[in-house]
Amino acid sequence: MISSDPPFSTAGDETEPYPNATTNACKLCTPLGACLAFRGIEGAVPFLHGSQGCATYIRRYLISHFREPMDIAASNFSESSAVFGGGANLKTGLANVLRQYQPKLIGLATTCLSETIGEDVPGHLNDFAGSPEGAQNETPIVPVSTASFRGTHVDGFHDAVKALVQSLAKGTPESFPGHAPIAVLPGMVSAADLREIKRIAREFGVPLTLLPDYSETLDGPSWADYEKLPTGGTPVAAIRALPRSRAMIECGRTLAYRGSTAATVAKDKHGVEIHRIGLPIGLRETDALIRLLSSLSGRPVPHSLKLERGRLLDSWVDGHKYVFEKRAIVYGEEDLVVGLASLLAEIGIIPILCASGGKSGRLGDAILSAAPSLKGRCEIRSGVDFAEISSRGAELRPDFLIGSSKGYSLARKLGIPLIRCGFPIHDRIGGQRVLHVGYAGAQQLFDSITNALLERKQADSAIGYSYL
Ligand code: SF4
Repeated sequence: MISSDPPFSTAGDETEPYPNATTNACKLCTPLGACLAFRGIEGAVPFLHGSQGCATYIRRYLISHFREPMDIAASNFSESSAVFGGGANLKTGLANVLRQYQPKLIGLATTCLSETIGEDVPGHLNDFAGSPEGAQNETPIVPVSTASFRGTHVDGFHDAVKALVQSLAKGTPESFPGHAPIAVLPGMVSAADLREIKRIAREFGVPLTLLPDYSETLDGPSWADYEKLPTGGTPVAAIRALPRSRAMIECGRTLAYRGSTAATVAKDKHGVEIHRIGLPIGLRETDALIRLLSSLSGRPVPHSLKLERGRLLDSWVDGHKYVFEKRAIVYGEEDLVVGLASLLAEIGIIPILCASGGKSGRLGDAILSAAPSLKGRCEIRSGVDFAEISSRGAELRPDFLIGSSKGYSLARKLGIPLIRCGFPIHDRIGGQRVLHVGYAGAQQLFDSITNALLERKQADSAIGYSYL
């Protein structure tokens, strides 16, 4: 992948001469994020307007992480589609998917190729609606523009969520009688994280609309017989009814700097009250979510959550001597890096390098607003690849890395532990079950980090086992 963009300079950056080529990008393809978001909608089929190769790559990546089947349809661009346009293929593909899957929604994402040749997707959808098969169709088709040369997988994810709200949410609160749910837009987190957010909301006794929700569609039980579409996901009816939400919580500190998001669409078009917080990773960021849920539900914080928080703090007291002043490199998608940096700062670890392939231009501000104590103590780099992270890593001599499996080579080269979290986790089982959010997520991350450091100390020690 070729990039001519310089790395963004953010607070604390020392801008280096920028390279002309990206080597092993610290980001993934934009429609991959869109496909993941669409997979979190009940009965949805993700559909790529582009080549089979893109669909195969994205399927492979998602399956290797989630270990679940992942069907992604494609309009199957050939050489002639690249020259004459892919409208005919798109219409045939949509008709096939509607016939074979009978989906409740088709999420239609573009690829680099269809964007490069300037495909008129809304025009093709209009043509399809006028065709015999399209005229019968009542299944919503939600298009989203996801050229990979314009963003990261996380951009594709958020753009797909925004497209869902833009296309489906309709009417006024009065059009939807019944309990007003709190809508949570959690961002690109793990399946376990989605379950944890649902559990926390249940503790407050409030109805919840989680958008998207792939906690079952990409982490469900085994099937006795093959199912074309896995169960679970956010119902289309719940997205249509978003205008009745009593409030919408959108997670992601760098996301909050974007001009237009799913939440701003809900606010501007439907008058929904919106709140923007960071990914609830670590104590303070989780406290913010809990405080918000307590205020929106009008209920005090449940005793069970207070106990979890207390146990977390107790474990930090127990374990701080093993982690205090250790040095880490954190990398991955921007809001995950912000959340992890905030957690590390809370437990006394210095994230000496915070790196992302994302280019919001706000990573530095977001980290320093989540963890002001890091000012002047960490290097923050946006728009970087693993070649740059590795070169800085060799100079900085961290105690461990924290991020996706893509940091494995560097960890191996430096002989230090890699704490796997985020996406993708391809070289271990259970990537979809890694818990990052809530007090329980902070607890699991703290235990993993501390035990990895203890294990390394033990391995390097002549004595090995002793009371530690
Ligand atoms: S959409 Fe672009 S980056 Fe993604 S697989 Fe296709 S060509 Fe590659």
